[in-house]
Amino acid sequence: MQPVFRFAPSPNGHLHVGHAYSALLNARMARESGGRFLLRIEDIDTMRCTPQLVQDCLEDLAWLGLEWEEPVLRQRDQTQRYKDAAESLRAGGHIYPCFCTRGHILKAAGDNQVRDPEGSVIYPGTCRYRDPEFIRRALAVGAPHAWRLNVWNLLSWLDDPAFWNNPLTWRETGLGYDETIPAEPSRWGDVVIVRKDIPTSYHLAVVLDDALQGVTHVVRGDDLYHATSIHRLLQYLLGLPAPIYHHHALILDREGRKLSKSVMSTPLRTFRADGITAAQIRQKLGFE
Ligand code: GLU
Repeated sequence: MQPVFRFAPSPNGHLHVGHAYSALLNARMARESGGRFLLRIEDIDTMRCTPQLVQDCLEDLAWLGLEWEEPVLRQRDQTQRYKDAAESLRAGGHIYPCFCTRGHILKAAGDNQVRDPEGSVIYPGTCRYRDPEFIRRALAVGAPHAWRLNVWNLLSWLDDPAFWNNPLTWRETGLGYDETIPAEPSRWGDVVIVRKDIPTSYHLAVVLDDALQGVTHVVRGDDLYHATSIHRLLQYLLGLPAPIYHHHALILDREGRKLSKSVMSTPLRTFRADGITAAQIRQKLGFE
């Protein structure tokens, strides 16, 4: 089977050298394995991913010297597929509506705030046991709500001998590994699968689109390493294949912080305006 790689940026800011590294690594791994290189624009957050930022993202990647197959998959065009998948999770009883605000969650969690691998407070489960009549009425009046994965319910698999014979794992080839890693979705608690403001979440969209695009190798930053546990669980529930995962170390700034738009790391286009060439960027990142 021909390997399929993808770079999947979220253009809610301009691309920086961290993105350039990830994109160039994907393209190189595709080239060296005789595989395909696809691009996916993860613009589900239509407020933050403006058409101009999407345009600039494509321009920056082309400037870097990358070539990808057309058409580019745009997540904002895929809403119906996300709704259908959420419906099937709902029909299977795997997700439940959550009417809590952030304030409710922090209050309900109290002092005993267990945190997920990203440092957010684990959802205390308030809406998991809501009275069905309450839910029916709240949905009928259009109360704002997200949909959460019933991870704790799924852990009842522990009673199932088939689970022990065939536990959820993934193959990890990044960070110096070539190993089978056990998925640990319980570390996340009941994560949001459909956001309040949009009909999907990053987790749901990413697994559906990797499957749609036939991605065999997911190469991405190690900030998403732990999210793979949730992705494997969703792939299992939705009957989707599991790609091989390769998480690479993130490029850090001088203070050792990860480069992200929030710390105002220098956009690629600023380097370009300053006369730095794409070849210099590629060379600095070890690709020439
Ligand atoms: N869109 C995500 C980001 O820019 C990456 C998604 C992925 O590679 O799984 O952080």
